[in-house]
Amino acid sequence: GKQPFRWRRVLLKVSGEALAGDHAQNIDPKVTMAIASEVAAVTRLGIEVAIVVGGGNIFRGASWAGISGLDRSSADYIGMLATVMNSIFLQATMESIGIPTRVQTAFRMSEVAEPYIRRRAVRHLEKGRVVIFAAGTGNPFFSTDTAAALRCAEINAEVVLKATNVDGVYDDDPRLNPNAHLLDTLTYNEVTTKDLSVMDMTAITLCQENNIPVVVFNLSKPGNISKAIKGERVGTLIGS
Ligand code: UDP
Repeated sequence: GKQPFRWRRVLLKVSGEALAGDHAQNIDPKVTMAIASEVAAVTRLGIEVAIVVGGGNIFRGASWAGISGLDRSSADYIGMLATVMNSIFLQATMESIGIPTRVQTAFRMSEVAEPYIRRRAVRHLEKGRVVIFAAGTGNPFFSTDTAAALRCAEINAEVVLKATNVDGVYDDDPRLNPNAHLLDTLTYNEVTTKDLSVMDMTAITLCQENNIPVVVFNLSKPGNISKAIKGERVGTLIGS
């Protein structure tokens, strides 16, 4: 018979770096359109999709604080604002192909987007709308990976799908070591003890504590986003 869909509600994390693609500017419209059309296809199958967007293509708080003398909190607020820019870009792209999409920000910017309201986000998802969570957690010293883990737990999504520019997690840096192997599966403990730089420690332990599996996969391969959302094997699966 037909394979039932494994996931009913997913949290897709798109890093800023992935959004940049090979475009000279910060955002590659080919990438946002690819995300939009693959997400469109799966929402038509009834899978609920929430998205957390990073901001590293525009501004990373920690590195700016280091080189400029900005205090870390100010730098991080700028970083969070960068995620709002990416989120609005992605929302506009989604809506241009007819996917109803809401942006909810972790701190108020009510002329631009809704504030984050958990129950309202869930209601949007139930109605088949895509919800983009912007501005990370709303707190400096955190990351959008942590925001992805947090929102995933809050809205009872079943998995964090981390879209990156690499095929998954390797046992060594594939850019430096040509014999590095792509790992099919990994445990949370392996991620933290081997320092595999999958996500920061706060994000991965939040997933572990709440039993949220994480799939790390390559967004630049056509079809991968919809495969990941449909629960087909792609990239590296992290669990207990
Ligand atoms: N940020 C933050 N708190 C959060 C999420 C993000 O302060 O909860 C800031 C932080 O400065 C970070 C920037 O926003 O460097 C962009 O987010 P991130 O680096 O996680 O984006 P990605 O690496 O996914 O592109």
